[in-house]
Amino acid sequence: MSGVNTAGWRPSMNSTEGVATGPVTASGDRALMLEEPLIFELDGEGKWGVDIDACERPMASALAKFARKAAPALPGLTEPEVVRHYTRLSRQNYGIDLGPFPLGSCTMKHNPRLNEKMARLPGFADVHPLQPQKTVEGALEVIEQLADWLITLTGMASVAMSPKAGAHGELCGLLCIRAALDARGETRDIVLVPESAHGTNPATAAFAGFKVQTIPATPEGRVDVAALKEKLGPDVAGVMITNPNTCGLFEPELKDIADAVHAAGGYVYCDGANFNAIVGRVRPGDLGVDAMHINLHKTFSTPHGGGGPGAGPVVLSEALAPFAPLPFVTRGADGSIHLVEEENRGEGHDRAFGRMVAFHGQMGMFTRALAYILSHGADGLRQVAEDAVLNANYVLRSLDDVLEAPFGASGPCMHEALFSDAGLPEGLSTLDIAKGLIDEGFHPMTVYFPLVVKGAMLIEPTETESKQGLDRFIASMRRLAERAKAGDESLHAAPFYAPRRRLDETRAARKPVLVWKGDQTEG
Ligand SMILES: *Cc1c(COP(=O)(O)O)cnc(C)c1O
Repeated sequence: MSGVNTAGWRPSMNSTEGVATGPVTASGDRALMLEEPLIFELDGEGKWGVDIDACERPMASALAKFARKAAPALPGLTEPEVVRHYTRLSRQNYGIDLGPFPLGSCTMKHNPRLNEKMARLPGFADVHPLQPQKTVEGALEVIEQLADWLITLTGMASVAMSPKAGAHGELCGLLCIRAALDARGETRDIVLVPESAHGTNPATAAFAGFKVQTIPATPEGRVDVAALKEKLGPDVAGVMITNPNTCGLFEPELKDIADAVHAAGGYVYCDGANFNAIVGRVRPGDLGVDAMHINLHKTFSTPHGGGGPGAGPVVLSEALAPFAPLPFVTRGADGSIHLVEEENRGEGHDRAFGRMVAFHGQMGMFTRALAYILSHGADGLRQVAEDAVLNANYVLRSLDDVLEAPFGASGPCMHEALFSDAGLPEGLSTLDIAKGLIDEGFHPMTVYFPLVVKGAMLIEPTETESKQGLDRFIASMRRLAERAKAGDESLHAAPFYAPRRRLDETRAARKPVLVWKGDQTEG
């Protein structure tokens, strides 16, 4: 139990193993640590939250045979019970508004409240995608302005605004590449992807019908350029490269790579998820990139939102711009703004490969991202990148004496610091440090990614953490590293203080129980 302060604290509700506890309470609650059953278990005879008039028997109709014979199996709760249920559950959660969220690669940034205020303006929040265009010109102008900023910041020719996430943007980019190849009458079907890439890259390439070939990483954590060049040939449609890469390092040879790929007739897709580290400093267009998605929920601070709604616009080079999907915001000769919804868009944009989504993207995210950009200005955005990189290097150099930093010798990192569990005693690993971090009151870092580093821990502090905040996080990480180095086996049982402890994540993923069927106590 060395190093674990258990005084006065109760461990998770489902185990008391290994932790000294106070009295067992009748309620299962521990003062402000509240336990909460499933909503179905709160069901009680004759309770409800609203009064609804009794429904008159529907007249016989063609649908009559489908009329419900039994009451729906919905739990009955009073309004205060419903409110408390969800509030109690929310308190068991962790969020960016509670503390640092150091997930590397995910860029969990603070969501400025100004963005929320702008997105809630009725002119943006209440518009409908099928409204006549004349009545939503302001909203179209937001899309246009954001598009202009993205084009300027990346030095690219055009942008497709409708994709709804990074991975969706990857698909958009690869479909543009496919359309460009079709237009050239070529059937190239290989996409090269470095082994350090995010899993979405090979998945997208395969989904778009390409064959994936892997490029190895150098011992310094960068793309092996010689190995890449060797693979170039008449069947290669393009490469997908992340810059800065997922080891947190800039790929200085991207321009050279792009020249070689172009000379071999291929296109360069850049995974722009890490644009946060270089925004305002580097324009990917200058490096020869043909397509790059931008995760507005990473670089431009819009909420990650539990899987949606997101936005992943894709900037495109001159070569790919004509194939961008519909719709498109343009200006008429008289300066009027409109959304082009049909093919044959005229000069430069006449060969759309189709459409990614029903409408024109996530208005709420566009508004937030534009608010973020305008409130920072060009100089502010540059400082975002500089501070993100400074914070990550502060973490890297504050911990590289207690944790192995696999590429620490490669010089400064970009916006994320990479460590590994090499050097920890046999049996103690990355997972134990990550779970211990929960007891320390932090969300764990990204673990076991990138795959090129065994036992990887990828920490991305982002630019909005203060030095004080970083010091607190570093102190916790040091403590955990020291406990692990001292062979403190109690880390295997962490987290002690979370509402739930080590869950069987594999079983939860493989055999999820999604339907309530009464008492489901299982062995
Ligand atoms: C987040 C991320 C993606 C995928 O983006 P989503 O918006 O989650 O679909 C792709 N590549 C990298 C490197 C990322 O960090």
